[in-house]
Amino acid sequence: MNPTRIENEFPAATYRGAQEQALSDIRAAFEAGNDIVLVRAPTGSGKSLLSRAIAGCARRPGEARPEQPTGAYYTTPQVSQLDDVASDPLLEDLSVINGKSNYSCILPGETTTPVDRAPCARETGFDCPVRHRCPYFSDRDLAASRQIAAMTLAYFMQTAGSEVFGQRDVVVIDEAHGLTEWAEMYATIELGPKTVPVWERTPAPKIADVEDAAEYAETLASVCDRRRHELQREPEISAEETAVRDRLSELVRDLTWFVTDARDAESATTWVTDQHGGAKSPVTIKPMNPERYLTHTVWDRASTFALLSATILNKDAFCRGTGLDPDRVALVDVEHTFPVENRPLYDVTQGKMTYEQRDETLPKVARLLVRLMSHHPDEKGIVHCHSYTIQERLADLLSESGVDSRVRTHDRQNRDAVLSSWKRDDSTVFLSVKMEEALDLKDDLARWQMLCKAPFPNTRDSRVAQRLKEGLWGWYYRSALRTVIQACGRVVRSPQDYGATYLADSSLLDLFERARHDVPPWFKAQIDRMTTPTLPAFDPQAAVTDTESTQRQPQSIDDHPLGDVWNG
Ligand code: SF4
Repeated sequence: MNPTRIENEFPAATYRGAQEQALSDIRAAFEAGNDIVLVRAPTGSGKSLLSRAIAGCARRPGEARPEQPTGAYYTTPQVSQLDDVASDPLLEDLSVINGKSNYSCILPGETTTPVDRAPCARETGFDCPVRHRCPYFSDRDLAASRQIAAMTLAYFMQTAGSEVFGQRDVVVIDEAHGLTEWAEMYATIELGPKTVPVWERTPAPKIADVEDAAEYAETLASVCDRRRHELQREPEISAEETAVRDRLSELVRDLTWFVTDARDAESATTWVTDQHGGAKSPVTIKPMNPERYLTHTVWDRASTFALLSATILNKDAFCRGTGLDPDRVALVDVEHTFPVENRPLYDVTQGKMTYEQRDETLPKVARLLVRLMSHHPDEKGIVHCHSYTIQERLADLLSESGVDSRVRTHDRQNRDAVLSSWKRDDSTVFLSVKMEEALDLKDDLARWQMLCKAPFPNTRDSRVAQRLKEGLWGWYYRSALRTVIQACGRVVRSPQDYGATYLADSSLLDLFERARHDVPPWFKAQIDRMTTPTLPAFDPQAAVTDTESTQRQPQSIDDHPLGDVWNG
């Protein structure tokens, strides 16, 4: 890699905010000999442009010795982020490749068949006459030959070991804060009737520990392998059988990996299992600190890495979780350039939202929400509910108050559709679950939001329980803090944008105190300015009153309903 190119490789004509300084700091970090640079870049830093500049420093074919890898990968766990990259004219030289299921076959009669179910996937030895025009293979070949290939982290990890996407000089990972969790998720093996095509033949026995799981995995892998071979011997299989064959291949690979790793005394990975219903009930096998998995899928893919995110909160903890040597890693902090007064936090805590205290607190949170709706009569808001249980209960309570005409909810199936239609609504309130990240609610898309509950990891999850048993409370608080900071960034997307965040759960204040050493300075500034606002009295009628006659767009912060609080 040649970091001296970084400024020239920056794709925009001019710099915004702290970009010039960020490039200079990143360059210095690589020039100091670090192989891996973590870039803590808040919303609005233009992370994609910084990523492009770093990727542009990768060795080029004319500069390399034959054994040296060239080019770069850009990858991100967030599909929406990759879509943004694909549509950004400043990033047009990033060659984007998506997973096979995102492309359709072009053969006559197959144009609605996704590529992973097309004749070339179904028929042994199928010689496609139009492969040179196939949209998937064209994009794949292009990405493989271009200097910068862009893909989701899922695709990137899947292609580890492939000849097409071999080693390159540089890997840039955007939104990298959850790398450990993503790796854990991809390496998690779900075994049950919905995920194992041969489950009826080989249901799980009672699994009490990892050795039980390894024994079962060994048996299951051989049953899956037999069935897969049966299918492979068929000259042609249906689309459904193709899906079964692919799933069996995945299972054989994952189960074999698990058995080998679990029985390797040298492995740094600890495995945990969950089975809540005894024999014949589903089993989940999960790795903790999947260092070996990351080594194979990420760290072996290049010699130099840049990892960008607003919420890489603690360098040493991040390195521990991802198996990196902190001595090879530098952390670059990028300044937040949005005025702190445009992103206020409000303490409107109503009590604790723990399981034990929720019944008492949630009705108070619902009344608070009605008051916030009155306070923001013409503005849209989003409520981060944390779980569907809380969301449904809150929706019921709001309905009992008679304000449901202004409330929108979604379920697991219709998340994206309801979100899209809510974005087109006026002045409504969206009760969301797990939308704290990868959501751009700029300007009037949302002027306020409420956090119902401190988003602590679920202690019923065996991985979480194991970490707490090991005393990793720092990880527990950092994990919740990261989600809070991500959530707070949803409603303020540019220096001119503004939006209020209301904190309803008193555990959030406790969280800020316990995780104070890991709070980035720009978020600490928000916490330090936090106040308790004066809200209207509880009046459901006022919360849903049609205010169209008085509706107007605020022209500035002075014009805004929160102006008195901000200016006070
Ligand atoms: S290679 Fe041919 S058969 Fe396979 S998806 Fe592409 S067009 Fe269809």
